[in-house]
Amino acid sequence: MELKLLPVVFIGHGSPMNSIRNNGFTKSLSLLGKSLKELTPSAILVISAHWLTKGTYVNTTPFPETIHDFAGFPEELYQIHYPVPGATEGAHICQQQIQSTKVLEDKTRGLDHGAWSILRHLFPEADIPVFQLSIDYQAPARYHFDLAQEIKSLRSSGFLIIGSGNIVHNLYRVNFSNDALPYDWAIEFDEMVKSKILNRDFDDLIDYQKTGNSATLSVPTNDHYLPMIYCLGLAEKKEVIKFTWEEIQHASISMRCFQIG
Ligand code: ZN
Repeated sequence: MELKLLPVVFIGHGSPMNSIRNNGFTKSLSLLGKSLKELTPSAILVISAHWLTKGTYVNTTPFPETIHDFAGFPEELYQIHYPVPGATEGAHICQQQIQSTKVLEDKTRGLDHGAWSILRHLFPEADIPVFQLSIDYQAPARYHFDLAQEIKSLRSSGFLIIGSGNIVHNLYRVNFSNDALPYDWAIEFDEMVKSKILNRDFDDLIDYQKTGNSATLSVPTNDHYLPMIYCLGLAEKKEVIKFTWEEIQHASISMRCFQIG
């Protein structure tokens, strides 16, 4: 039997407010979720900008809590619970696939908002078990690209892998107005990343700091950029990559999303 390769998706999650918004972005997630669900994934792995660690972890929590890891937002956001089961067995399989480093186990951690704020739009039924892989924040971008290659086989074992971050993410320059115009440098970097993804210039995207001033402004810290690097590391050579949403919210946050395969 030929094994089906499940897609990899990168989601620009943006403000936690998107978890309760009904806008073009969240509608695109609902549509994407429906098409992904038809592929009947058995588990979901999320690599989120909001789980940064020293070393690499998977969470094997049977019933992960919804972590409200933000401050200063409306009470409504803190009431949200995404009641999904954990994917303990899936997390152990992922842990075993990675040979280059010892992946540690966190048996109690829940899901951060990089995961649940998008999952509740993608899969509102919350019936596909979820686990997360943390980002070793001391390691360079190349390390993450290489690490992703070690878990490629999960794609043919029923795992849907989601990277959740933002290609452009500058909170120092954010404009909270909903109709804020994007900065020129944000558009420039976002478009450059798009064209390099399409041209498969992945090396340039790993060495993004060399691409100039727009990179410095768009990626002041790379926590939200690295989940995209994981997605690129999971791509097979000739797979189709399509953009499922493109937008810049609050002037300095790219909501660009794409699907590989
Ligand atoms: Zn975030």
